[in-house]
Amino acid sequence: MRIDIISVVPDLLNGPFDHSILKRARDKGLAEVNVINLRDYSTSKQKQVDDYAFGGGAGMVMMIEPIANCINDLKSKCNYDEIIYMSPDGELLNQKICNQLSLTRNLIILCGHYKGIDERVREHFITREISVGDYVLSGGELPAAILSDAVIRLIPGVLNDETSALTDSFQDNLLAPPVYTRPAEYNGWKVPEILMSGHTANVEKWRYERAVERTKQRRPDLLK
Ligand code: SAH
Repeated sequence: MRIDIISVVPDLLNGPFDHSILKRARDKGLAEVNVINLRDYSTSKQKQVDDYAFGGGAGMVMMIEPIANCINDLKSKCNYDEIIYMSPDGELLNQKICNQLSLTRNLIILCGHYKGIDERVREHFITREISVGDYVLSGGELPAAILSDAVIRLIPGVLNDETSALTDSFQDNLLAPPVYTRPAEYNGWKVPEILMSGHTANVEKWRYERAVERTKQRRPDLLK
């Protein structure tokens, strides 16, 4: 899978993809993440990418031209399944969307800044708008990193058995059960006996029951 992230602050995306599971995905050739500096597509001398909002009011708006130049350039070299704009008014990101996107081949993710982007970009270029939650961040880079991480780890071959996504929260509309590791007793606090019984079927049953219990308590909406 290839993800091209368009940003005016590409440095913000240094790091998230260079470690742990995401690094392994890149090293194995299962995911390629390119960060594209939008300023490279500005035609002005000052590399301008934003301007005052028509109608007045506080805050700058990202201009259509550099974004259009950038997206058109990318599209001339690659076929994209989705051109995603990270936006607080987009559809709320969930595991189902991540599962869907993990089956695609090429994605563009556009990160907004300032007041947002010229609406015409959204009307004419963007195919999907995704929010990471009902709060406003200063830019789309962290949301783009969240989306990319959540999607890349679902690509077949990225996770190994120990980190399997199948037993994670939301994968089957259940939250994950509690987990424990050594020591079996700390400060008098004990690990549930059953987990050390070596009886796989009983352990699985216990985990399932705890998952259902936790989901009922914390996220009953998932069980509907
Ligand atoms: N004026 C806009 C917010 C702009 S925030 C509004 O009120 O809706 C600047 C940029 O940060 C946005 O263009 C978007 O790309 C990103 N962003 C902020 N919050 C986000 C969220 N919850 N989910 C996804 N992207 C977000």
